[in-house]
Amino acid sequence: MPRRPFRVGRSNTGLGLFATRPIRKRTRIAEYKGRKVNTKEANRLEARGNLYLYEINSRWTIDGTPRSNIARYFNHSCNPNAEVYDVKHRVFIRTLRNIKPGEEITYNYGVDYLKNVIGRSNCQCGRCRRRRARKARERRALDKRRQARLARKRRL
Ligand SMILES: [Zn+2]
Repeated sequence: MPRRPFRVGRSNTGLGLFATRPIRKRTRIAEYKGRKVNTKEANRLEARGNLYLYEINSRWTIDGTPRSNIARYFNHSCNPNAEVYDVKHRVFIRTLRNIKPGEEITYNYGVDYLKNVIGRSNCQCGRCRRRRARKARERRALDKRRQARLARKRRL
């Protein structure tokens, strides 16, 4: 693989990976590297709070904990611009669309991770933050209308 087209940077949730040049759709950009462990070992690691496990199949999991595994810095998004996939027990990340320099590169960690680790209402991806902001605005607008209605009633 050529020099990687992204760098580690600050994101909403800590660290993330950001494009340093335009990347075309369907480009393989990284490998999720780590020790291959069996399911028993993976379950043990998970119970100890390991968040960097990628399950290849019912028998094997990649433990992507080492900091040398740069792919562990890809954040989750519910509206991602990349995806993770595996080929013969190796795990890669590729882009789903053209990516501009400066854009954060994300992939979807999957429903289980979102529900059990992040928590649906805690997701910090762009889509969820916008959704929560919109809901908060709607609540405030509703509140305002209610207040106005009450004030009118009091004047009558
Ligand atoms: Zn989200």
